[in-house]
Amino acid sequence: MKKTIANTTIEIGRGDIASQPDMQAIVNAANAQLLNGGGVAGAIHRAAGPGLEKECKPMGPIQPGEAVISGGHNLPNKYVIHCLGPVYGKDKPEDKLLADCYRNALQLADKKEIESIAFPAISTGIFGYPTKDAARVALETIINTIPGLKYLKTVRIVLFGREDFEIWKNALDE
Ligand code: ADP
Repeated sequence: MKKTIANTTIEIGRGDIASQPDMQAIVNAANAQLLNGGGVAGAIHRAAGPGLEKECKPMGPIQPGEAVISGGHNLPNKYVIHCLGPVYGKDKPEDKLLADCYRNALQLADKKEIESIAFPAISTGIFGYPTKDAARVALETIINTIPGLKYLKTVRIVLFGREDFEIWKNALDE
């Protein structure tokens, strides 16, 4: 499933965020301390090796909506952009903070002249953000941010489960 906006293609795909070798950057659904963890952060830190945590630790803690960048270490990607999503029901307003994540990550990527970036569904795991609402906020933000970027050609959303994949596909269709 693909859609092109102002020369940038948005792709919705299924898979593991830590196995996207054709992307220059991947985004981590990080924790505030930028440490190894569960879900996306666990998969990324496992694949990157201990050097990632070592590089990230001094940059933490970060606030909900904030994004920071590191190297990819043993990952096939040059960069990892770490975003702290809002905890649903706690960090408010959730929709603004989630939009901040996607916008800040994209703008940071463009500053580094990154042409391809893959995102997981930030905040929709342990942080409890309903998938359909998160997909709408994320895609709206990506679509609105893209025209202001210079280098970005591909944005891929990588979904783990089949159901999540269908929800995001439908959201992009709308
Ligand atoms: P958060 O703490 O921001 O909610 P999680 O890592 O718990 O982040 O989950 C975010 C989303 O990523 C969830 O929908 C989860 O199913 C999905 N997910 C978990 N592991 C992976 C992975 N290896 N690759 C892509 N998506 C993943």
